[in-house]
Amino acid sequence: MGTCQTCLLRADDFDIPAGARTGLPKNLIVQNYFLACLLYPDSDLKLSQAKTSDLFREAIVIEKNKLTDSVLQLFLEPSEPLDFFAGQFINLKSANDLVRSYSLACNPADSKRLELHVKLMRNGQMSNWLFNELQVGETVEFQGATGNSFYNEVNLDQPLLLIGTGTGLAPLLSIVRYAISQGHRGEIILYHGTRYSYGLYQNKLLIEMANTVDNFSYFACLSGGVEFNGTLLGRANELAMQRHKDLTGWQVFVCGEPLMVKDTQQRAYLAGANLDEIHVDPFNLRDLRRRRRK
Ligand SMILES: Cc1cc2nc3c(=O)[nH]c(=O)nc-3n(C[C@H](O)[C@H](O)[C@H](O)COP(=O)(O)OP(=O)(O)OC[C@H]3O[C@@H](n4cnc5c(N)ncnc54)[C@H](O)[C@@H]3O)c2cc1C
Repeated sequence: MGTCQTCLLRADDFDIPAGARTGLPKNLIVQNYFLACLLYPDSDLKLSQAKTSDLFREAIVIEKNKLTDSVLQLFLEPSEPLDFFAGQFINLKSANDLVRSYSLACNPADSKRLELHVKLMRNGQMSNWLFNELQVGETVEFQGATGNSFYNEVNLDQPLLLIGTGTGLAPLLSIVRYAISQGHRGEIILYHGTRYSYGLYQNKLLIEMANTVDNFSYFACLSGGVEFNGTLLGRANELAMQRHKDLTGWQVFVCGEPLMVKDTQQRAYLAGANLDEIHVDPFNLRDLRRRRRK
């Protein structure tokens, strides 16, 4: 779909259709890079390997915190400050060359201390490596930042509705932090959904933020049926849509589980939000449809 940009290749001797360069930065376009997932060849093509130094830069792991049994908070110090927009993600490479996308949870002002939230997936190759093998002090390579779902401070009075499930909270937290630091005046309303209370991995921080910032509200939503200290019962997107029936003039951000993201995008549109003001970030996993489970 051209989202994560992990399939970049270089063309040697053919004209690349514009569609296969969608969203690439200029420095890669001039070097004939394109996204393999968006190119449908009708003849043989001559390709060059992507040069690691064109795509990846280095960062040192400076802190690792297990926020719960299945969520890791990772802090990276890039070799140079990283320019990014609140809501974007990076592509992280493992020691054995796996590449996966992770959203930045920090304020873009923290360009030398990048924060990621990683969910441990059962049998997931990258998340298990990040949890169990990567050590503080080691160097990792990353690509980006990239992604089209981000906040810009064009209209500080516009209300913002943010809905995320699981570690889909990460990019939303970056947006909330940045919007507040820019003096956003419109309402900022965040719904974070998980199944059980232990999945509310930034509950304390978000409650504190909501208590100190007048125009910021936070709703923790539990879909597993057991209430806990002021949480709402139900799916985050369902609750948000029930409580905000008219989204005319709102900016909406939806991140996390892909089916939830798609459904909420449609419902936000039907509730009156402009399509170009509904920003979505589905955490698509690798396409495993043609793979056999080992
Ligand atoms: C734009 C974007 C942003 C993202 N941001 C974040 C983020 O901030 N935080 C976050 O935690 N994740 C994020 N993700 C998801 C992340 O990129 C990874 O997909 C995720 O961490 C899983 O990677 P993995 O290598 O651990 O799992 P993989 O090895 O890719 O496996 C994925 C799942 O498939 C299952 N599986 C593996 N092999 C098979 C098989 N042969 N048959 C059937 N099932 C199998 C595994 O059990 C696992 O549950 C994002 C994704 C995108 C696209």
